[in-house]
Amino acid sequence: MTIELPADTGAKPDGWDDKRQSAGGAAAWAIGFWIWPDKAEQTMTVNHDAVWAALKTVQDPEIFKDIVSLNMVKDAAISGGQVTVSVELTTPACPMRDRIRQDVTAAVSGVPGVTEVKVSFSANVRGVDQAKNLLPGVRNVIAVGAGKGGVGKSTMAVSIAAGLSMQGAKVGLLDGDVYGPSIPTMTGLGTQSPALRGEQIVPFRVGPAANPLRVMSIGFIVPKEKALIWRGPMVHGVIRQFLEQVLWEELDYLVVDLPPGTGDVSLTLAQSIGLTGAVIVATPQEVALMDARRAVRMFQQLGVSILGVVENMSAFICEHGTQYDIFGRGGARTMAAEMGLPFLGDVPIDMSIRKQSDAGDPFANLAGDSPVARSLTSIVQNLAGQISIRNLTRPAGKAIKLDITA
Ligand code: ADP
Repeated sequence: MTIELPADTGAKPDGWDDKRQSAGGAAAWAIGFWIWPDKAEQTMTVNHDAVWAALKTVQDPEIFKDIVSLNMVKDAAISGGQVTVSVELTTPACPMRDRIRQDVTAAVSGVPGVTEVKVSFSANVRGVDQAKNLLPGVRNVIAVGAGKGGVGKSTMAVSIAAGLSMQGAKVGLLDGDVYGPSIPTMTGLGTQSPALRGEQIVPFRVGPAANPLRVMSIGFIVPKEKALIWRGPMVHGVIRQFLEQVLWEELDYLVVDLPPGTGDVSLTLAQSIGLTGAVIVATPQEVALMDARRAVRMFQQLGVSILGVVENMSAFICEHGTQYDIFGRGGARTMAAEMGLPFLGDVPIDMSIRKQSDAGDPFANLAGDSPVARSLTSIVQNLAGQISIRNLTRPAGKAIKLDITA
């Protein structure tokens, strides 16, 4: 899906020098007054090749390749001295948009004859070719895992899905936490049964009609009392069948909330779908981190990239502003550094997260400008950046075949 992003506001990037423009004009006028009007300066045609050569000097700040070779420049329209550059980002949640705007403006404004540079953005999420996998039409599958329960894995899975969707991407959220599905509560869906279209299960839609978040939980299909099937030899077949039957249609991102730990269901999900990668959620204390490291190793053994680590419940700030590091602070960041993994960000303990999750509005924690909304949005953007890096720098992930026997 190509997403048109909001038009250029005309805001000048940091370091942009208006005076340079008007001073240049004034200088030309002053010289022209005494000599002959510097027509060459005023009517100079901007050279198309020079503009593209300038664009080729601009690097994607995360991938370290030039934006022309990365096929991100879709157009450079010249009209008199004005150049409008159309840049296609690899995700609407791109954390580097302002930096790219600034670098493009700086590079192109150095081309002779250019008096104004405008940069417009669109986004086209690239992804793993799922055609041979279970989920055709789904470009990226992101598993959210944790070493143990109760660390906020489902909360992060919901927030990541809602956050990507709020940035304009087409997103699905799959609750694979069969032992304790919390997505139906956190999305306000409760215990409804999904509709069927032919043999296929239609995901629920929550949020704005124009770009809803599609939601499905294995818990909707298999009642709790049948939880036994999640152990032993049947698990592999049941999960594959379920995955094949959900009608996701076209998605930029499918976020999968895995069960905690490294059990059969996590393994089957990880090996059945061609995962783009996994996010590991951990709280900062050592006992949680030990399990988180185990989860990281499980994914790595399956050949699944770790897209990053999130530290949840990082600190509690009371109403008087005092910070209490209830579970410690920074442990997950240190773990990520030690294991050579990207650190996506931390989220404080905040009562509003618990309340809004219980209330079933997946978008509420990201709305507004609270510290929680800011940290979640930053995590979403950092993750989107990591996914783009992975897709542009590595070969497509493949589903790994491992047969699980009881
Ligand atoms: P998990 O999926 O790891 O078992 P959940 O996401 O279900 O954990 O979270 C467990 C509980 O903690 C939920 O009630 C959730 O609302 C709450 N919670 C999660 N993260 C935070 C946070 N940062 N601040 C406050 N409460 C949180």
